[in-house]
Amino acid sequence: MNLFPVLLALTLTITGCSGSEAADDLPAAKRPTIAHLDPDLRAAVVDAAADARADGVRVSVTSGWRSKAHQERLLEDAVQKYGSVSAALHWVSTPDTSAHVTGDAVDIGPNREADAWLSEHGSAYGLCQTFANEPWHFELATDPGGDCPEMLPDSSYRESGPSAG
Ligand SMILES: [Zn+2]
Repeated sequence: MNLFPVLLALTLTITGCSGSEAADDLPAAKRPTIAHLDPDLRAAVVDAAADARADGVRVSVTSGWRSKAHQERLLEDAVQKYGSVSAALHWVSTPDTSAHVTGDAVDIGPNREADAWLSEHGSAYGLCQTFANEPWHFELATDPGGDCPEMLPDSSYRESGPSAG
């Protein structure tokens, strides 16, 4: 099965990290934010995006793998926005706990229609929304066709381990 055209069709909207995402002319499959994703996660998203398109819904990855430096900047921005580290951690994880840094999470866009499609159909691909306050954030959290685990209220509830959003 040739996935390359589908990967090409995964469009990316990268915000706030132009330094590490300068290669906008590269095909999606070659961009670090996609290339460094866990291969199983990447394959699941590609499959889901193709099926969503058949339903007339565009599903794309707005944020995938992030460098630790990128995640640190996002957290610093969130501290500015929310006023404290503890408030920011409800929305942005640290570089040591973010599932984006390990390549185990994707943020889906470009709109809520895409999130809603994946919320409804994602478990068929093993993709689950993991935090109740982030309808755009998905991880491989079940076997394809399985049941997604109950969502955590937000990423601050996942205190340790390799994956938090
Ligand atoms: Zn996320």
